[in-house]
Amino acid sequence: MMTKINSRSPQVLLSVRDLIMPYFVVEGNRKKEPVKNMPGIARLSIDLLVKEIAKAKGLGIREVILFGICPSRKKNATGDHAYSAESVVARAVTAIKQKVKGISVITDICLCAYTDHGHCGILKKNPGTIDSRPTLEALSEMALTHARAGADWVAPSAMAHQQVRAIRRKLDRHSYPETRILGYSAKFASNFYGPFRDAAASAPKFGDRSAYQLNYADPRRALREIAEDIREGAAMVMVKPALSYLDILKDAKTRFDFPLAAYNVSGEYALVKYGARDGLWNERKMVFEILVSIKRAGADRIITYHATDVAKWLGVNARSRGRTLDFGRDQPGKQPRDLGLIDHGLRS
Ligand SMILES: [Zn+2]
Repeated sequence: MMTKINSRSPQVLLSVRDLIMPYFVVEGNRKKEPVKNMPGIARLSIDLLVKEIAKAKGLGIREVILFGICPSRKKNATGDHAYSAESVVARAVTAIKQKVKGISVITDICLCAYTDHGHCGILKKNPGTIDSRPTLEALSEMALTHARAGADWVAPSAMAHQQVRAIRRKLDRHSYPETRILGYSAKFASNFYGPFRDAAASAPKFGDRSAYQLNYADPRRALREIAEDIREGAAMVMVKPALSYLDILKDAKTRFDFPLAAYNVSGEYALVKYGARDGLWNERKMVFEILVSIKRAGADRIITYHATDVAKWLGVNARSRGRTLDFGRDQPGKQPRDLGLIDHGLRS
């Protein structure tokens, strides 16, 4: 006898709650500097940043991640300005927490935007090698400064060995046990970071970061790094970039079943934007396909420059903010296609 099989396969539904919007913050007032090769993205001074985040919140965005731009005159070999309470990130966090209620703020923790050589840590005399102890101390201080300013999460991206442990200890010792750590656990040495380095003015002045970022041909190392960050006290781990690393996301989710973020990076964003501009594809459809694929691979959160656009396209507003939006159900009459995915029905 034939058993009737339910033909409706479980579907991956993307919600605006899955998305984290990144912002670049600069010193000054009423400053909006478009980022080269990232159409639609600008470096913002704190006053404008607060307004943008309030708007994003109105669209349903609940989490943001901040990257600070350090003026050249404040950069030095050891990146001291990174942990100043006067740093633009610390001041931005305070302003956001005061003026936009209910937004969760994540800050990037790395020295590369603050060192004059552009590397992610403090270097030994032999250039190209990171001096571990002072680097961990500087990163922990930076995390503590951001926690004091009100950050909900700190996200160490320097790939310094035991950075999560050092930061966790520092935060606990100073009574910030509730400030959580999002580890950039599997951060690959990638060609997809190009536009970001221009945005954050953080390109290395010499050498590259292959000594401390992961080799994309070595998936096992990535999983070891993720395991290590979980042991050291991360509350969520990350794979970066996303699109060329879906297998790593899938493996990490399967192996650890731990909260997992993916960073849909600047180069991935630029590809979509330039392709759309040149008529190669429909931007919305491409964005949805990419973000659903990242979620399908296992990401619980996706850091993406498309976040506020997606929120707009979904038509989320303050009234429906609490609702989980699934594209499928927003499109009555649309039948799911093959692979259990949905054509998001965003007819162009
Ligand atoms: Zn860095």
